[in-house]
Amino acid sequence: NYILAIESSCDDTSAAVLCNTKVLSNVVATQEIHKQYGGVVPELASRAHQQNIVPVVHQALAKANIDKKQLSAIAFTRGPGLMGSLLVGTSFAKSLALGLDIPLIEVNHMEAHILAHFIDDESMTAPEFPFLGMTISGGHTQIVRVNSYFDMEVLGETLDDAVGEAFDKSAKLMGLPYPGGPLVDKNAQLGNPRAFDFPKPKVEGLNFSFSGLKTSILYFLKRETKKNPDFVDENINDICASVQYTILEILMDKLKLAVKQTGIQHIAIGGGVAANSGIRKRLKDAEKELGWTTYIPKFQYCTDNAGMIGIVGYLKFLEGQFTNQSVGAKARYAIGS
Ligand code: ATP
Ligand code: FE
Repeated sequence: NYILAIESSCDDTSAAVLCNTKVLSNVVATQEIHKQYGGVVPELASRAHQQNIVPVVHQALAKANIDKKQLSAIAFTRGPGLMGSLLVGTSFAKSLALGLDIPLIEVNHMEAHILAHFIDDESMTAPEFPFLGMTISGGHTQIVRVNSYFDMEVLGETLDDAVGEAFDKSAKLMGLPYPGGPLVDKNAQLGNPRAFDFPKPKVEGLNFSFSGLKTSILYFLKRETKKNPDFVDENINDICASVQYTILEILMDKLKLAVKQTGIQHIAIGGGVAANSGIRKRLKDAEKELGWTTYIPKFQYCTDNAGMIGIVGYLKFLEGQFTNQSVGAKARYAIGS
Protein backbone atom coordinates (compact mmCIF):
# COMPACT_ATOMS: atom_id res chain seq x y z
CA ASN A 1 0.00 0.00 0.00
CA TYR A 2 1.19 3.48 -0.88
CA ILE A 3 0.24 6.35 1.40
CA LEU A 4 0.80 10.03 0.65
CA ALA A 5 1.23 12.11 3.81
CA ILE A 6 1.02 15.87 4.19
CA GLU A 7 2.28 17.99 7.10
CA SER A 8 1.67 21.76 7.34
CA SER A 9 1.07 22.48 11.04
CA CYS A 10 3.65 25.22 11.57
CA ASP A 11 6.36 26.59 9.28
CA ASP A 12 7.52 23.49 7.39
CA THR A 13 5.64 22.25 4.34
CA SER A 14 6.27 18.54 4.01
CA ALA A 15 5.04 15.60 1.94
CA ALA A 16 6.06 11.95 2.12
CA VAL A 17 5.24 8.74 0.31
CA LEU A 18 5.29 5.50 2.29
CA CYS A 19 5.09 1.93 1.10
CA ASN A 20 3.57 0.31 4.19
CA THR A 21 5.99 1.16 7.03
CA LYS A 22 8.86 2.23 4.75
CA VAL A 23 9.42 5.86 3.84
CA LEU A 24 10.11 6.16 0.10
CA SER A 25 10.39 9.95 0.12
CA ASN A 26 10.15 12.68 2.75
CA VAL A 27 10.40 16.20 1.33
CA VAL A 28 10.55 19.17 3.70
CA ALA A 29 10.41 22.81 2.59
CA THR A 30 11.52 24.95 5.52
CA GLN A 31 10.24 28.51 5.36
CA GLU A 32 13.17 30.91 5.58
CA ILE A 33 10.93 33.99 5.61
CA HIS A 34 10.43 33.85 9.42
CA LYS A 35 14.13 34.26 10.27
CA GLN A 36 14.08 38.02 9.80
CA TYR A 37 11.19 38.33 12.30
CA GLY A 38 12.81 36.16 14.99
CA GLY A 39 9.85 33.78 15.10
CA VAL A 40 7.04 32.28 13.05
CA VAL A 41 4.60 34.83 11.59
CA PRO A 42 1.33 32.88 11.12
CA GLU A 43 0.05 34.89 8.13
CA LEU A 44 3.31 34.43 6.24
CA ALA A 45 3.45 30.73 7.15
CA SER A 46 0.03 30.14 5.66
CA ARG A 47 0.93 31.98 2.47
CA ALA A 48 4.22 30.07 2.10
CA HIS A 49 2.37 26.74 2.56
CA GLN A 50 0.05 27.73 -0.28
CA GLN A 51 3.06 28.35 -2.51
CA ASN A 52 4.94 25.22 -1.45
CA ILE A 53 2.29 22.54 -1.19
CA VAL A 54 1.92 21.62 -4.87
CA PRO A 55 5.66 21.47 -5.69
CA VAL A 56 6.45 19.63 -2.44
CA VAL A 57 3.81 16.95 -3.11
CA HIS A 58 5.00 16.58 -6.71
CA GLN A 59 8.57 16.19 -5.52
CA ALA A 60 7.60 13.56 -2.94
CA LEU A 61 5.77 11.52 -5.58
CA ALA A 62 8.61 11.91 -8.09
CA LYS A 63 11.30 10.90 -5.56
CA ALA A 64 9.27 7.84 -4.59
CA ASN A 65 8.71 7.11 -8.27
CA ILE A 66 5.00 6.70 -7.63
CA ASP A 67 2.11 8.01 -9.71
CA LYS A 68 -0.76 9.51 -7.75
CA LYS A 69 -3.07 6.89 -9.29
CA GLN A 70 -1.14 4.23 -7.34
CA LEU A 71 -1.94 5.79 -3.95
CA SER A 72 -4.11 3.86 -1.50
CA ALA A 73 -4.88 6.73 0.88
CA ILE A 74 -3.97 10.27 1.88
CA ALA A 75 -2.98 11.17 5.44
CA PHE A 76 -2.74 14.74 6.72
CA THR A 77 -2.05 16.65 9.92
CA ARG A 78 -5.38 17.83 11.32
CA GLY A 79 -3.83 19.51 14.36
CA PRO A 80 -2.55 20.85 16.69
CA GLY A 81 -0.86 23.85 15.13
CA LEU A 82 -1.48 27.21 13.50
CA MET A 83 -4.97 27.37 12.00
CA GLY A 84 -3.92 29.15 8.80
CA SER A 85 -1.14 26.61 8.24
CA LEU A 86 -3.24 23.54 9.03
CA LEU A 87 -5.98 24.70 6.66
CA VAL A 88 -3.66 24.54 3.66
CA GLY A 89 -2.66 20.89 4.21
CA THR A 90 -6.16 19.88 5.25
CA SER A 91 -7.87 21.42 2.20
CA PHE A 92 -5.24 20.04 -0.15
CA ALA A 93 -5.50 16.50 1.28
CA LYS A 94 -9.30 16.58 1.16
CA SER A 95 -9.41 17.74 -2.45
CA LEU A 96 -6.84 15.21 -3.62
CA ALA A 97 -8.54 12.31 -1.81
CA LEU A 98 -11.86 13.37 -3.34
CA GLY A 99 -10.35 13.67 -6.81
CA LEU A 100 -8.65 10.29 -6.62
CA ASP A 101 -11.57 8.71 -4.80
CA ILE A 102 -9.36 7.16 -2.08
CA PRO A 103 -9.65 7.18 1.74
CA LEU A 104 -8.67 10.24 3.79
CA ILE A 105 -6.92 9.80 7.14
CA GLU A 106 -6.50 12.49 9.79
CA VAL A 107 -3.44 12.50 12.03
CA ASN A 108 -2.68 14.19 15.35
CA HIS A 109 0.74 15.86 14.97
CA MET A 110 1.83 15.10 18.57
CA GLU A 111 0.88 11.43 18.30
CA ALA A 112 2.91 11.37 15.09
CA HIS A 113 6.00 12.76 16.87
CA ILE A 114 5.77 9.64 19.10
CA LEU A 115 4.72 7.06 16.51
CA ALA A 116 7.57 8.15 14.19
CA HIS A 117 9.46 5.37 16.00
CA PHE A 118 7.46 2.79 14.06
CA ILE A 119 8.88 3.89 10.72
CA ASP A 120 10.82 0.97 9.27
CA ASP A 121 14.41 2.20 9.15
CA GLU A 122 17.62 0.30 9.76
CA SER A 123 18.83 2.90 12.30
CA MET A 124 15.71 2.70 14.49
CA THR A 125 14.01 -0.04 16.52
CA ALA A 126 10.31 0.05 17.29
CA PRO A 127 9.57 0.48 21.03
CA GLU A 128 7.78 -2.23 22.98
CA PHE A 129 4.45 -1.40 24.62
CA PRO A 130 3.90 0.03 27.12
CA PHE A 131 6.51 2.76 26.86
CA LEU A 132 6.92 6.35 27.96
CA GLY A 133 6.95 8.88 25.15
CA MET A 134 8.50 12.26 25.82
CA THR A 135 7.53 14.84 23.21
CA ILE A 136 9.92 17.76 23.31
CA SER A 137 9.18 20.27 20.59
CA GLY A 138 8.60 23.88 19.70
CA GLY A 139 5.06 23.94 21.05
CA HIS A 140 4.89 21.02 23.49
CA THR A 141 6.65 19.26 26.36
CA GLN A 142 4.82 16.15 27.45
CA ILE A 143 5.39 12.79 29.08
CA VAL A 144 2.95 10.31 27.61
CA ARG A 145 2.16 6.75 28.62
CA VAL A 146 1.79 4.83 25.36
CA ASN A 147 -0.15 1.59 25.86
CA SER A 148 -0.63 0.87 22.17
CA TYR A 149 -0.63 2.82 18.91
CA PHE A 150 -3.85 4.62 19.65
CA ASP A 151 -4.07 4.38 23.42
CA MET A 152 -2.02 7.23 24.86
CA GLU A 153 -2.35 9.10 28.13
CA VAL A 154 -0.61 12.40 28.91
CA LEU A 155 0.97 12.05 32.38
CA GLY A 156 2.48 15.52 32.55
CA GLU A 157 3.12 18.58 30.43
CA THR A 158 4.44 22.09 30.53
CA LEU A 159 2.48 24.71 32.40
CA ASP A 160 3.97 27.57 30.35
CA ASP A 161 6.70 27.57 27.67
CA ALA A 162 7.64 24.47 25.70
CA VAL A 163 11.22 23.21 25.92
CA GLY A 164 11.89 24.22 22.29
CA GLU A 165 10.73 27.73 23.18
CA ALA A 166 13.08 27.72 26.16
CA PHE A 167 15.95 26.96 23.77
CA ASP A 168 14.81 29.52 21.19
CA LYS A 169 14.09 32.32 23.68
CA SER A 170 17.39 31.82 25.51
CA ALA A 171 19.17 31.90 22.16
CA LYS A 172 17.40 35.15 21.28
CA LEU A 173 18.58 36.72 24.55
CA MET A 174 22.13 35.81 23.51
CA GLY A 175 21.59 37.45 20.12
CA LEU A 176 21.46 34.19 18.16
CA PRO A 177 19.12 34.00 15.13
CA TYR A 178 15.83 32.05 15.03
CA PRO A 179 15.44 29.14 15.54
CA GLY A 180 18.16 29.18 18.15
CA GLY A 181 17.83 25.62 19.49
CA PRO A 182 20.26 24.01 17.05
CA LEU A 183 22.79 26.85 17.59
CA VAL A 184 22.67 26.51 21.37
CA ASP A 185 23.34 22.80 20.86
CA LYS A 186 26.29 23.51 18.55
CA ASN A 187 27.91 26.09 20.87
CA ALA A 188 27.20 23.97 23.97
CA GLN A 189 29.42 21.21 22.61
CA LEU A 190 32.41 23.57 22.98
CA GLY A 191 31.51 24.94 26.40
CA ASN A 192 31.55 24.05 30.08
CA PRO A 193 28.08 22.99 31.27
CA ARG A 194 28.90 23.92 34.88
CA ALA A 195 30.31 27.38 34.13
CA PHE A 196 27.13 29.17 35.23
CA ASP A 197 24.32 28.05 37.52
CA PHE A 198 20.68 28.57 36.64
CA PRO A 199 17.90 27.57 39.04
CA LYS A 200 15.64 24.64 38.22
CA PRO A 201 11.89 25.31 38.64
CA LYS A 202 10.00 23.63 41.44
CA VAL A 203 7.02 21.99 39.81
CA GLU A 204 5.13 19.14 41.43
CA GLY A 205 4.63 15.80 39.73
CA LEU A 206 5.29 15.28 36.05
CA ASN A 207 4.51 18.79 34.84
CA PHE A 208 7.15 21.18 33.55
CA SER A 209 7.79 24.91 33.63
CA PHE A 210 10.34 26.78 31.56
CA SER A 211 9.34 30.44 31.77
CA GLY A 212 11.30 31.04 34.99
CA LEU A 213 14.52 29.85 33.38
CA LYS A 214 14.13 32.38 30.59
CA THR A 215 13.69 35.17 33.16
CA SER A 216 16.71 34.13 35.17
CA ILE A 217 18.84 34.03 32.00
CA LEU A 218 17.58 37.50 31.10
CA TYR A 219 18.62 38.96 34.48
CA PHE A 220 21.90 37.06 34.48
CA LEU A 221 22.86 38.44 31.07
CA LYS A 222 21.77 41.97 32.02
CA ARG A 223 23.88 41.88 35.17
CA GLU A 224 26.95 40.49 33.46
CA THR A 225 26.86 42.73 30.38
CA LYS A 226 26.63 45.75 32.69
CA LYS A 227 30.01 44.75 34.10
CA ASN A 228 31.42 43.65 30.73
CA PRO A 229 29.64 44.63 27.51
CA ASP A 230 31.38 41.79 25.65
CA PHE A 231 30.33 39.15 28.19
CA VAL A 232 28.04 37.23 25.81
CA ASP A 233 30.50 37.16 22.91
CA GLU A 234 33.37 36.10 25.14
CA ASN A 235 31.41 33.37 26.92
CA ILE A 236 28.88 32.19 24.34
CA ASN A 237 29.92 28.53 24.47
CA ASP A 238 29.86 28.37 28.27
CA ILE A 239 26.50 30.16 28.46
CA CYS A 240 24.97 27.82 25.87
CA ALA A 241 26.42 24.77 27.61
CA SER A 242 25.10 25.91 31.00
CA VAL A 243 21.63 26.74 29.66
CA GLN A 244 21.42 23.41 27.86
CA TYR A 245 22.66 21.57 30.95
CA THR A 246 19.88 23.12 33.05
CA ILE A 247 17.21 22.25 30.48
CA LEU A 248 18.46 18.66 30.21
CA GLU A 249 18.52 18.30 34.00
CA ILE A 250 14.88 19.38 34.11
CA LEU A 251 13.92 16.83 31.44
CA MET A 252 15.92 13.99 33.00
CA ASP A 253 14.56 14.65 36.51
CA LYS A 254 10.99 14.33 35.24
CA LEU A 255 11.77 11.22 33.22
CA LYS A 256 13.28 9.58 36.28
CA LEU A 257 10.15 10.44 38.26
CA ALA A 258 7.92 9.08 35.49
CA VAL A 259 9.87 5.82 35.45
CA LYS A 260 9.55 5.59 39.23
CA GLN A 261 5.81 6.27 39.16
CA THR A 262 4.93 3.93 36.29
CA GLY A 263 7.59 1.24 36.56
CA ILE A 264 8.06 1.59 32.78
CA GLN A 265 11.72 1.74 31.76
CA HIS A 266 11.26 2.00 28.01
CA ILE A 267 11.60 5.62 26.90
CA ALA A 268 11.04 7.04 23.42
CA ILE A 269 11.63 10.70 22.64
CA GLY A 270 10.19 12.73 19.79
CA GLY A 271 9.86 16.30 18.51
CA GLY A 272 12.43 18.85 17.35
CA VAL A 273 14.38 18.97 20.61
CA ALA A 274 14.96 15.21 20.30
CA ALA A 275 17.54 16.27 17.70
CA ASN A 276 19.60 17.83 20.52
CA SER A 277 22.95 16.07 20.90
CA GLY A 278 22.91 16.54 24.69
CA ILE A 279 19.59 14.80 25.30
CA ARG A 280 20.58 12.02 22.92
CA LYS A 281 23.77 11.44 24.91
CA ARG A 282 22.01 11.66 28.29
CA LEU A 283 19.53 8.97 27.22
CA LYS A 284 22.27 6.69 25.93
CA ASP A 285 24.06 7.13 29.28
CA ALA A 286 20.82 6.29 31.11
CA GLU A 287 20.80 2.90 29.39
CA LYS A 288 24.06 2.01 31.14
CA GLU A 289 23.54 3.89 34.39
CA LEU A 290 19.84 3.30 35.01
CA GLY A 291 19.08 0.21 32.95
CA TRP A 292 16.56 1.99 30.72
CA THR A 293 15.91 1.05 27.12
CA THR A 294 15.79 4.23 25.08
CA TYR A 295 14.58 4.95 21.58
CA ILE A 296 15.91 7.95 19.70
CA PRO A 297 14.59 8.81 16.25
CA LYS A 298 16.74 9.58 13.25
CA PHE A 299 17.28 13.36 12.90
CA GLN A 300 14.90 13.81 9.98
CA TYR A 301 12.07 12.21 11.96
CA CYS A 302 12.56 14.52 14.98
CA THR A 303 11.69 17.93 13.54
CA ASP A 304 8.47 18.36 11.58
CA ASN A 305 8.21 15.97 8.64
CA ALA A 306 5.48 14.15 6.74
CA GLY A 307 7.16 10.76 7.19
CA MET A 308 5.84 10.60 10.74
CA ILE A 309 2.36 11.58 9.52
CA GLY A 310 2.60 8.78 6.96
CA ILE A 311 3.40 6.07 9.49
CA VAL A 312 0.36 7.02 11.57
CA GLY A 313 -1.61 7.12 8.32
CA TYR A 314 -0.53 3.59 7.52
CA LEU A 315 -1.35 2.29 11.03
CA LYS A 316 -4.81 3.86 10.78
CA PHE A 317 -5.21 2.53 7.24
CA LEU A 318 -4.72 -1.01 8.56
CA GLU A 319 -7.48 -0.43 11.08
CA GLY A 320 -9.79 1.30 8.61
CA GLN A 321 -9.73 4.52 10.63
CA PHE A 322 -10.81 6.87 7.85
CA THR A 323 -12.40 10.27 7.98
CA ASN A 324 -14.89 11.90 5.64
CA GLN A 325 -14.95 15.16 3.72
CA SER A 326 -16.60 17.09 6.56
CA VAL A 327 -13.38 16.97 8.62
CA GLY A 328 -11.85 20.35 9.51
CA ALA A 329 -8.47 21.49 10.84
CA LYS A 330 -8.14 21.60 14.64
CA ALA A 331 -5.69 24.15 16.10
CA ARG A 332 -5.99 22.68 19.60
CA TYR A 333 -6.02 18.92 19.51
CA ALA A 334 -5.06 16.93 22.60
CA ILE A 335 -3.26 13.58 22.38
CA GLY A 336 -5.60 10.64 22.83
CA SER A 337 -8.77 12.69 22.20
P1 ATP B 1 4.95 21.16 17.92
O1 ATP B 1 5.46 19.87 17.41
O2 ATP B 1 4.85 21.22 19.40
O3 ATP B 1 3.70 21.60 17.23
P2 ATP B 1 6.89 22.43 16.24
O4 ATP B 1 6.34 21.45 15.26
O5 ATP B 1 7.01 23.85 15.86
O6 ATP B 1 6.05 22.29 17.58
P3 ATP B 1 9.29 20.90 16.06
O7 ATP B 1 9.56 21.13 14.61
O8 ATP B 1 8.90 19.54 16.47
O9 ATP B 1 8.29 21.95 16.71
O10 ATP B 1 10.58 21.38 16.85
C1 ATP B 1 11.12 22.66 16.65
C2 ATP B 1 11.89 23.03 17.90
O11 ATP B 1 13.01 22.16 18.06
C3 ATP B 1 12.46 24.45 17.85
O12 ATP B 1 12.17 25.07 19.07
C4 ATP B 1 13.97 24.21 17.68
O13 ATP B 1 14.76 25.21 18.24
C5 ATP B 1 14.14 22.91 18.42
N1 ATP B 1 15.36 22.20 18.03
C6 ATP B 1 15.67 21.66 16.83
N2 ATP B 1 16.91 21.14 16.85
C7 ATP B 1 17.40 21.32 18.11
C8 ATP B 1 18.62 21.00 18.78
N3 ATP B 1 19.60 20.36 18.16
N4 ATP B 1 18.75 21.38 20.07
C9 ATP B 1 17.76 22.01 20.72
N5 ATP B 1 16.59 22.35 20.15
C10 ATP B 1 16.42 22.02 18.86
FE1 FE C 1 6.24 19.32 15.62
